Amino acid sequence: MKTDKLAHKFRVESGKNFKLKDFDPEDTGHWRSKEHAEETLQKCIACTVDLQDKLYAQDQWALLLIFQAMDAAGKDGAIKHVMSGVNPQGCQVYSFKTPSEPELQHDFLWRTTRNLPERGHIGIFNRSYYEEVLVVRVHPEILKSQKLPDELIGKNLWEQRFEDIRSFERHMTRSGTVIRKFFLHVSKKEQKKRFLARLEEPEKNWKFSAGDIHERKYWDDYQNAYEEMIRNTSSEDAPWYVVPADNKWFTRLVVSTVVVDALESLNLAYPKVDDAKRKELDAAKKLLISKK
Ligand code: ATP
Ligand code: MG
Repeated sequence: MKTDKLAHKFRVESGKNFKLKDFDPEDTGHWRSKEHAEETLQKCIACTVDLQDKLYAQDQWALLLIFQAMDAAGKDGAIKHVMSGVNPQGCQVYSFKTPSEPELQHDFLWRTTRNLPERGHIGIFNRSYYEEVLVVRVHPEILKSQKLPDELIGKNLWEQRFEDIRSFERHMTRSGTVIRKFFLHVSKKEQKKRFLARLEEPEKNWKFSAGDIHERKYWDDYQNAYEEMIRNTSSEDAPWYVVPADNKWFTRLVVSTVVVDALESLNLAYPKVDDAKRKELDAAKKLLISKK
C-alpha cells in the first residue's frame, strides 16, 4: 500500500535532536475528516488481516507493537480498531498495570519478556517496560517498592535503564521480532475534554478514575519523561512513532499505516510447497477421493 509516507512522517529513528514540541497533537496531515480517512483506514485494516495470515503461516517473524500514552489518549480504541478483523489466534494483547508482588521479585523486564509474541504472532503491549522510565521517573518513590539493593540506585539509574532497554530491543530484533513503538501524543486541553466526557456521559462513567485527575498535576514532568524516553530509545530497528492523538480517527489511521508498513517490509509469503510436500498432498487427495 502507498501509505509509507504517512507512517514516515511521525517516525523517530534517531533521538538526537528530538523535541516533543516539534510534534503537534492536533496534526491531521492533509486529511480533513474522519470520513475522508475512512476508506484508507479500511484498506489498511484489510491489508493487515491479509498479511497477518501470512505471518502466521510462515511462522518465522513476530511483530511487537508497544503503546504508551497519557490517560485518555486513546490507546484502547486504537488497538481495538487497528486490529479489528485480525485472527485472534495469531494476536495477543497484554495490559501492564502496577506490578504485582510476584512481579516485583524479578528484574523490570521480566514480566513483559514472559509475554512477548511467539513467532508468527502479533503481540500488543498496552503500556510496557517503558513505564519504568515514565511513571517511576515521575514518582521516584515507586523505586522503593522495587526491592532494588540501595547501592544500585545511583544517579545514572535512568541512563542505565535506557541502555538496558536498547540492548533488549536490539536482541529481540536480531531474533526476528519486529518492534514498533507508539506514543499517542494528546494535548492537555483534549485530555481535559475527554475526562469531562467521562464524568458527564453515563456510558463513559466506568472509564473515569479519580487517580487520572491526580496524575494530570504532573503533566509537565510526564512530557519531559516522554521526551527523554524517545530521545534515548529511538532506533532504526525499533523506532518510536509520535502519533497525533487529539483526533482519534487520525491516530487510528497513522497506527494502521505503520502496522501495514512494518508487515510489508517483511516480504511475507505462504510457505512454498516443495516436491515432497506436493507428493504428500497429491497422495492425500487421491486417498480422499477413492474412499466414501
Ligand atoms: P485505562 O485507564 O484505559 O483502563 P490504563 O492503562 O490507564 O488503562 P490503569 O489501570 O488505569 O490502566 O492504569 C495502570 C497504571 O499502572 C498506570 O497508572 C501506570 O502508570 C501504572 N503502571 C504500569 N506499569 C507500572 C510500573 N512498572 N510501575 C509502576 N506503575 C506502573
Ligand atoms: Mg488509566
